[in-house]
Amino acid sequence: MSFDLVIFGGTGDLAWRKLMPALFQAFRHGSLPEGGRIIGLARDDLSDDQYRALIRERFDQVDLAKRPSAQEFDRFAALLHFVRVDLSRPADFERLAGVLRERGADTVVMYLATAPSLFTAACEQLAAAGLNTANTRLVLEKPLGHDLESNRAINRAVRAVLAENQIFRIDHYLGKPSVQNLFALRFGNALFEPLWRRDHIANIQISIAESLGVESRGAFYDNTGALRDMVQNHALQLLCAMAMEPPINSHADAIRDEKLKVLRALKRWSPESLGQHVIRGQYGPGTIAGDKVRGYREEPGVNPQTTTETFVALRAEIANWRWAGVPFYIRTGKRLAAGDARIVVNFQPTPHPIYHTPIGAVNRLVIHLQPKDGLELHLLAQGQDGRHVRLGAQALTPVHLDLDFDKRFGSGRVGAYERLLLDVIDGRLNLFVRADEQEEAWRWVEPVLHHWRHEHSAPRPYAAGTWGPSAASAMIARDGHCWSEEC
Ligand code: NAP
Repeated sequence: MSFDLVIFGGTGDLAWRKLMPALFQAFRHGSLPEGGRIIGLARDDLSDDQYRALIRERFDQVDLAKRPSAQEFDRFAALLHFVRVDLSRPADFERLAGVLRERGADTVVMYLATAPSLFTAACEQLAAAGLNTANTRLVLEKPLGHDLESNRAINRAVRAVLAENQIFRIDHYLGKPSVQNLFALRFGNALFEPLWRRDHIANIQISIAESLGVESRGAFYDNTGALRDMVQNHALQLLCAMAMEPPINSHADAIRDEKLKVLRALKRWSPESLGQHVIRGQYGPGTIAGDKVRGYREEPGVNPQTTTETFVALRAEIANWRWAGVPFYIRTGKRLAAGDARIVVNFQPTPHPIYHTPIGAVNRLVIHLQPKDGLELHLLAQGQDGRHVRLGAQALTPVHLDLDFDKRFGSGRVGAYERLLLDVIDGRLNLFVRADEQEEAWRWVEPVLHHWRHEHSAPRPYAAGTWGPSAASAMIARDGHCWSEEC
């Protein structure tokens, strides 16, 4: 099968930091279908060789393990081409159409790695140049809009020129091996399904903590904030993976239908729940790994008076038979005490205690997403050391079963962008987000944004290197629970 992968924004940060390394890994692993071309587009006037030289130079900044040797790059570079295109100039699209038609590849993937403000114009121009054929696939990067209305406007513009099954909306979390293992845990194993419900689960915590700050993306982040950047997309997709019903088969729409039902069942916000169940924070100066770091308002590109949140903790509930009454806590933030993404499932305590157990010790399943990829099952066992004999045979101690997928399957596993790019080329939509899912997620977060816009208080400050404002711990403590690092 021949393919042309056209990267709009082929000289941009996303292209050289994520897409090119992922495509090179796929090439190195032999999984990139033979007979492909990767065509970078931008307004620069570059020849193919100049573009190859630019990408070669950029690879020097990529992780050593993902960097090609000179011979490897020469072979990979044969796939790379460049076409100068200004998205606002119809004539440039005619030239692109000529380049693509000359070859007539079986599949043409258009990857919009440019600012979302250019998406609508790009779609119109693609259609005007006759490039929206049945073998075209379009990849859209986040952020897909700023709110429900702008998201719907982009979806309308894209749907005007392509069918939904030609549109691949990327949420790179869905491409992570750890998230695919989460689906495998739930739907490839029978063990947990009978327990996966309100009768046995006390609460679920989805925590995506970053120790990094905004790096060089201050201006972008200051217009976005943690709710739009992490909750509307990644955290809600994780929540769907945890809460959805088993799909009837593994087809994309069967999976996406079930995720959509979860989003539709999310309990709507009320003035009370907005006041009590959403905490926003903003990092101030602090210490990360022994180094002093500046506060968010001092970051380059950030407005010194900004009220953009760098931290969100919230309590969601899913109003259906499986989950009614079970709190789902979501927490995400920058400059937190650790870079760690995990989901913790806290099971109900035993109904009638006959042992002495440490306070707060319950059966717990920890799904590690990042940096570790694995599972821990926390149990209670009868310790046999002297201390336990002294306490009497009735005392139990926490132990856990630990499954490390990186060790088990090796560290050369397929990365998120590599997996997603191969899926687009092969036309597999399972790990991409459908328009209705995305719109439903926006519909749910929008009242929070509205509430913040009209609230007179600013985000709560927290010191860099901590776990966020103490109000996030108070929120969960009101339910009698605690974040996993506090229990
Ligand atoms: P960037 O570094 O600013 O790159 C933008 C690219 O678009 C450049 O190649 C630029 O080249 C091209 N471009 C700009 N205006 C154009 C026009 N009128 N016609 C044709 N090409 C044009 O941006 P980025 O960081 O790669 O981000 C791209 C998109 O991906 C954004 O929506 C961003 O939010 C999203 N994203 C980025 C990352 C990341 O890690 N960077 C991660 C997730 C999502 P010329 O100026 O030479 O034309």
